[in-house]
Amino acid sequence: MDVFQFTKTVLEQTDKGMIVLDHHGVVRYATPLFFTITGFPAQEVGLRRLEDLCMIKQGTEDIGNIFLTLAPMDSWQGELVFTPPEHREKQCAARVTCLQSQNEDRYVYIVSVQSPAGSGTGTVDELTGLPGVEIFLDRVEQSIRFSRREKSKIVMFLIRLDRFDLVTDGLGHEYGDRVLKEVSIRLRKLFRESDTIARIDRITFGLLLKVTKEAHASLVAEKVLQSITGPIPMAGQKVVVTASIGIATCHNTGDRADKILGFAETAMHHARQSGGNVYHFFASDLNVKAKKRIEMENSLRAAIEEEEFILYYQPKVDISTSRIVGAEALIRWQHPEQGMVAPFHFIPVAEETGLIIDIGRWVLKDACRQNARWQQQGLNPVPVAVNVSPRQFQYPGFYDDVKTAIRTSGLDPDLLELEITESMLMSDVDQMIAKLKKLAGVGLNLAIDDFGTGYSNLSYLVRFPVSTLKIDRTFIKDLENDDSMAGLTHSIISMSKNLNLKIVAEGAENEQHISFLKKHGCDVVQGYYYSKPVPAADFSKLLETGTIKIRESSRQNRTGP
Ligand code: C2E
Ligand code: MG
Ligand code: MG
Repeated sequence: MDVFQFTKTVLEQTDKGMIVLDHHGVVRYATPLFFTITGFPAQEVGLRRLEDLCMIKQGTEDIGNIFLTLAPMDSWQGELVFTPPEHREKQCAARVTCLQSQNEDRYVYIVSVQSPAGSGTGTVDELTGLPGVEIFLDRVEQSIRFSRREKSKIVMFLIRLDRFDLVTDGLGHEYGDRVLKEVSIRLRKLFRESDTIARIDRITFGLLLKVTKEAHASLVAEKVLQSITGPIPMAGQKVVVTASIGIATCHNTGDRADKILGFAETAMHHARQSGGNVYHFFASDLNVKAKKRIEMENSLRAAIEEEEFILYYQPKVDISTSRIVGAEALIRWQHPEQGMVAPFHFIPVAEETGLIIDIGRWVLKDACRQNARWQQQGLNPVPVAVNVSPRQFQYPGFYDDVKTAIRTSGLDPDLLELEITESMLMSDVDQMIAKLKKLAGVGLNLAIDDFGTGYSNLSYLVRFPVSTLKIDRTFIKDLENDDSMAGLTHSIISMSKNLNLKIVAEGAENEQHISFLKKHGCDVVQGYYYSKPVPAADFSKLLETGTIKIRESSRQNRTGP
C-alpha cells in the first residue's frame, strides 16, 4: 500500500475534519467532517488544489509557499478561510503536515481543520445543548452525499411543539424554557449518538435518521409523539405538550438539504393544520397508510379502555369419541361501528405498536377466569389454550402476567395451555429453552401453533418443553386434492407420535378430512367440522353435553366464516 492509500485508510477511521493532498497539492481524499466544517460540497473538493478552496487568513502569504517550505514530518499551523460556493466563508484553525513515502520519494500532505468555537458549525444551542440549524443542514448534506453507498434512506423529521404559547402564557418564559429542555432530553434519550437531533428554532426540533424501510419512519414518529406527550411535572402542575411532526425522505443523492427541509416544513404545516399531535409525510402515499394505522392504533387504545374485546372458544375434539378435550380462546373485537372484527385485522397492528402486551394480558386473565368459572360450575375440566404473540412473549413481564392470571383466577395451571409459533423458537435457542422451562415450571402446557408454516423440523422441536403440536390449517385444507399435503400431514403425525407429542389438526371442515386424520392416527381435531369458535355462554352448553354431535349437513361440509 502506498503512503497515499495508507493515509486515506487511516483517515477513514477518524471523525476529524481532514483532507489528504498528493504531491501536486491536489485533494485526493476528504473526511466527512471536513465538508461539515468547511461547508464545501463533496463534488467541489475532489481533485481541486488547496488554494482553490481557501486562503490564508492574515497576511499575503500564498498557500503554495506552505508546500515549498515544508520538509517531511514538518507542520504548518495557522488559520485558513474557506470559501464554499453558495455558503458563507468559514474560518478554520488548520494544520498542514508533510509526510514522505519511503519507497516513492514523494510527499503527501495532510490538512486538518477545526472550526473555531462560537463560529459556524461550532454553534450549539445554549439552552438544550443541541446543535443549531446550520450544523443540522450540514449533516443532512453530508448524509445525502454518503447515502449512495448505503441501502438505507435518509429521513428528516421536523418536530414543532403545538400551542406552545399557552405554556409560556400560563407559566412564564422561564418555565417555557424548562419544558423545552425537558423535551430535548426526551428526544435525546430516544435516539443514538449517531442520529442527529438539532434545535431548528425556539419550538422546533430537527431529527435526521437513516431507515431501511420508509414504514419505520412512522414508528419513529409515533415514538416521538408518545415520549413528548408524557406529562412534565412543572411548577406544581403537570404540563402536557404535543407536537406536529413533518417527515420528508431524501430519495435522490442530488437533493439539497434546504430542499428537504422545505418538504419537511410543508408536511409539518399539514400536521399542524390537522390539529397537531400527529405526524405527516411529505407527498407520499405512506400518508394514507400511516393515517389508517394511527386511526387503528387509537381505536385499539380506546378498545382496551372500553373493554371492547371478547373471547370466543373453539372446541378441540377427540376424533374417536367426539368428546371435547380442550378449547382455544380466540379474541374478537366488538367494534362500536364496525361490529365484530376478526383478529387478522387488528392483531398485527397491536403487535407492531406494542399494544398486544396489554391486550394479551387481558386475554390471559379473561381465559383463566372463564375456565376457572366453568370448573366451579362443575363442568368437565378441559384445558383452555391462549395464543401468545412474539412481542408479548419477548416482553420481560410476560411470565408475571401468566402467573398473575393463574393466581387471581384460582385456575389449576394444568388447565392452561399457551400456543406459541415456530418462528418464536428460531432466535436464541438456549434462552428460549430456559424461558419455556420456566413457564412449564408453573404447571401449564405449551403447544406449537401453525406447525409446518415455519422452517423448523420435528427433531429440533424435541429440545423445547412443548407437549403439543398443532398442524396448520393449510395442510388440512388441501388434504383431499393435494397428495403432497396428505403425505406431509401423514409424516408429521407419525413423527410426532414417535416423539411423544400430542397432535391437534387445525381447520378440519369435512368428513374427508376427519377420515384421513383418523386413518393416520391423529387423535384431536379443532375445526369447523365440529364447531366454529363460539361465545363463552354457548361453549358452556357444549361443555355440559361434553361431546359434539355432528348434524347430517355437517357431514357434507362445514365451511363458512
Ligand atoms: P390460530 O391460533 O391458528 O387460530 C385458529 C384460527 O383458525 C381461528 O381463526 C379459527 O377460527 C380458525 N379456524 C379453526 N377451524 C377452522 C376451520 O375449520 N376452517 C377455517 N376456515 N378456519 C378455522 P381466528 O379466530 O380468526 O384467529 C386467527 C388468528 O388470530 C389465530 O390463529 C391467532 O394467530 C390469532 N389470534 C386469535 N386470538 C388471539 C389472541 O388472543 N392473541 C393473539 N396474540 N393472537 C390471537
Ligand atoms: Mg392458535
Ligand atoms: Mg393455528
